[in-house]
Amino acid sequence: MNCKEAEKKIPAFLNDELDGRGLAEFVEHIEDCPECMEELSIQFLVAEGMEQLEQGNNFNLQEALTSKLENADYRIRINRVLRHVLLILEAAVAAAIIAAVIIVSM
Ligand SMILES: [Zn+2]
Repeated sequence: MNCKEAEKKIPAFLNDELDGRGLAEFVEHIEDCPECMEELSIQFLVAEGMEQLEQGNNFNLQEALTSKLENADYRIRINRVLRHVLLILEAAVAAAIIAAVIIVSM
């Protein structure tokens, strides 16, 4: 993912609309790219910070953004684990089918 694509996805990320691959690629880019991280921080402040401040809440931008990114990281990890489990299951099913075919043909 390049900066242009990442920038386009910032609003979707802030609205929790990114998922799976899109989310993983976005977070990967953001964590390696200070410019996009800054852009994300600004848009996050505009989108959520202002609202919180208007409500008179104490708002720690850095903390809130960090927890949002950690949450995304967590979801990405879960996704990876699930995909891994699925692959193992598929391999197990394939092995079972091969074994069945061998047994039937014997
Ligand atoms: Zn970038």
